[in-house]
Amino acid sequence: MQFKPFPLPSRPLTEITFRAPTVRDSMEYIDIPDYETEKTTTKYLNALQVGELNDSALWTQQDRRTALWWIFVNSRDNAYLTYQYGCGHCNDFHFADVDMSELVENLTVLNVPPVIECVIPVEGERITWKLVPLDGRSAEMLEYMNFQLPQPSEQGYEAALTELRLAELALMTRTDSDPVDYKEAADHRLALINRMELGHEFPALVARIQMMVRDLKHGLDMEVEKNGVRLNLPKQACKATEKGEPPRYTALRAPFRNSEFISRIRSEWMDNNHQ
Ligand SMILES: [Zn+2]
Repeated sequence: MQFKPFPLPSRPLTEITFRAPTVRDSMEYIDIPDYETEKTTTKYLNALQVGELNDSALWTQQDRRTALWWIFVNSRDNAYLTYQYGCGHCNDFHFADVDMSELVENLTVLNVPPVIECVIPVEGERITWKLVPLDGRSAEMLEYMNFQLPQPSEQGYEAALTELRLAELALMTRTDSDPVDYKEAADHRLALINRMELGHEFPALVARIQMMVRDLKHGLDMEVEKNGVRLNLPKQACKATEKGEPPRYTALRAPFRNSEFISRIRSEWMDNNHQ
């Protein structure tokens, strides 16, 4: 079975047709190592395409996450996920059964190209920067760097974390003097960033990148935080509300993990109940 075409949220004129994952597909994704979820995501989103391949490594992170959700909600009769949360109204825990297909209501697509141009000097020399959202290739690189970080208690952690953040900034930029090779180009921009004046030039670049992320928000309603990506879910009414009382709502935000949306054979389907 194939689904109706999925417009990439960052470039909605580009439509991708996916097919439903099969049992055989799911066998490929039983064990996803923590440091390879982005690589696996690329493989999965490419494997399920029908027709000419549009490499998902080149899509934005938000395109990729939204595509995972699209396949998830289209490939099952029941697209509910259950989340447990602490309720601030009654101080108890509730379970929220969320119909993930409802998230389509807060889906946004860009009606401008996913790039913002600006001029920010490096050591006083004018450089034209193109600012772009992270794509799949950069996500794969950053995930691996993140995996190699020392423990927070270990020496060198802060330095390694700062290097990771600088690499992230380099991966969200392009310049006219970039070499053709993707990795070499990222190193070239990282070298430029390292030469920036700490007090003026560098903060200007960081601020423009933050603005770009906000202005080019697309796909499902999510926020990227220090501890990962959070998906904004429909608000939930407190279940301890008495009859006649007005409902008291909680804005629910749940971590978005790619691996949860990649179709895998669930262990409960494989339990042996036949003997
Ligand atoms: Zn409650």
